[in-house]
Amino acid sequence: MSADPVRPGPVGDSHDERTERRLWLEDVLARLHSRYVGLTDGALADYIPELATVDPDRFAIAAMTTDGERVEVGACDHRFTIQSISKLLVYGLALEANGREAVLERVGVAPTGERFNAIVLDDADNRAPNPMVNAGAIAVTDLVAGDGVDDRLGAVLDVFERYLGRRPEIDEAVWTSERATGDRNRAIAYLMLSRGILDGPVDDTLDLYFAQCSLLVTAADLATIGAIIANHGADPRTGGRVIEPTVARDLMTVALTCGMYDYAGEWAYTVGIPAKSGVGGGILGVLPGAGGIATFSPRLDEHGHSVRGVNVFEELSRDFDLHLFDPDRPWYR
Ligand code: GLN
Repeated sequence: MSADPVRPGPVGDSHDERTERRLWLEDVLARLHSRYVGLTDGALADYIPELATVDPDRFAIAAMTTDGERVEVGACDHRFTIQSISKLLVYGLALEANGREAVLERVGVAPTGERFNAIVLDDADNRAPNPMVNAGAIAVTDLVAGDGVDDRLGAVLDVFERYLGRRPEIDEAVWTSERATGDRNRAIAYLMLSRGILDGPVDDTLDLYFAQCSLLVTAADLATIGAIIANHGADPRTGGRVIEPTVARDLMTVALTCGMYDYAGEWAYTVGIPAKSGVGGGILGVLPGAGGIATFSPRLDEHGHSVRGVNVFEELSRDFDLHLFDPDRPWYR
């Protein structure tokens, strides 16, 4: 293997500097891809039976900078279900539509340190603990207004369209599969209904939650979403506003504190990049002010995070000082 690529200095706007940085980034991501493509640890999610039928070997790493440069390595066009990464976008919708105070009445921002599907509520304030665990995400989805599931799904798709420039398709088989087997989420939702945390109709909200988790995206899409959030809500490609900067800030905060569930503390400590994972195999990372990074590989660890994805993020953060609190971090801004 040749020597590690030399990290470019602070990037100006000149064509040459941008090209140099893109080539460097391509080289970095390609090396990570070849380093981890042979890693086959972990297992497909099978509690949603349809997810156990996906090709386990696909592997993609994508990035987009806040000045709109895109780099893609591996299966970046391969579509997979977004699963829990949708929680971030729908939380943004709820904040926009209802305001922080109203959302905080139903969903707090405290990490649980427990698994994503833990049956855990914030008893002191009678609300869901945070919007990244299933309880909180279902309470957030309950806040999506509209007349019936189709209408409310339309509002969710509108948000995705703002980020992606297209309406994502839904994987009907995965949607049906989770609807048929999602009794744990049903239990969580009914518990919240009994406590007055949800308004209902609860079965509609669950169906909408399963639908948002079944939306099909690519690693390149996740990098785009990450770059928009990193760019404080403005689309790096067009400059158009997708979400308010205050909302982007809230999304980054909950991603850092709660996005990786029971691994969130270790993730913040070792990786230090606001991130959200999904059991479909995606991980979306946000480098504030700098860009979005996304990985896709569907074999999961015991926390429900992509094994290859976690490795890629750990190595990237370590080798390039990407931790939010790293003293050398400003080099890439
Ligand atoms: N749809 C999945 C669930 O609710 C999402 C979980 C995840 O991606 N961590 O169980």
